[in-house]
Amino acid sequence: MSRNNKGVLMILAGPSGVGKGTVLGYLREMGHDFFLSVSATTRAPRPGEVENGSYIFLDKAEFEDRIARHAFLEHARYLDEYYGTPEEPVEAGLAEGRDCILEIDVQGAFQVKEKRPDAIMVFMLPPSMEELEKRLRGRGTETEDKINRRIARAADECAQADRFTYRVTNLDAHNAAQELHDILCLEREKHQAE
Ligand code: 5GP
Repeated sequence: MSRNNKGVLMILAGPSGVGKGTVLGYLREMGHDFFLSVSATTRAPRPGEVENGSYIFLDKAEFEDRIARHAFLEHARYLDEYYGTPEEPVEAGLAEGRDCILEIDVQGAFQVKEKRPDAIMVFMLPPSMEELEKRLRGRGTETEDKINRRIARAADECAQADRFTYRVTNLDAHNAAQELHDILCLEREKHQAE
């Protein structure tokens, strides 16, 4: 039997503020090797965010140029800004046999699923909408208007959680990381047997 040694492509969607980044940090600490896609965005960096670490920060013209050059696996608008996944590093990671994780919004998740039906769809839910609101306000880096728009968007996104194969509730970030680890192991086994 020929074995498929390519890595697993996992989409991790979920509302802004749900803690996707923190959970993925714990997954890495658990020793799970994976490639985390660094997205491009036109939004301004938050304090502490570093170029190429958090995001590749681009101006609108450069982003649109990359769209025209088909450099993105997917791209979407979120609160008036562009966000997109550069395609080449993801393909390279998968070809090396590494699991690749895309931390993206719901629109982007379904674009990737169209192009790559083998992608594993995971949605991370907050323990409650009140808790999510608390976390978004707690960041203290955005205007009231922006926070309210993120909260409205979060409600729309959570309403689509049933369209995902897996749903993980982030009650505790360590437990959520363990759940992601289990999903990746299970899917990798299935994938390698194909
Ligand atoms: P934030 O501004 O909070 O960093 O991100 C806003 C939303 O955009 C989050 O839900 C985040 O997961 C999503 N996002 C980040 N990168 C990408 C991307 O490359 N593509 C898409 N479609 N969404 C992204």
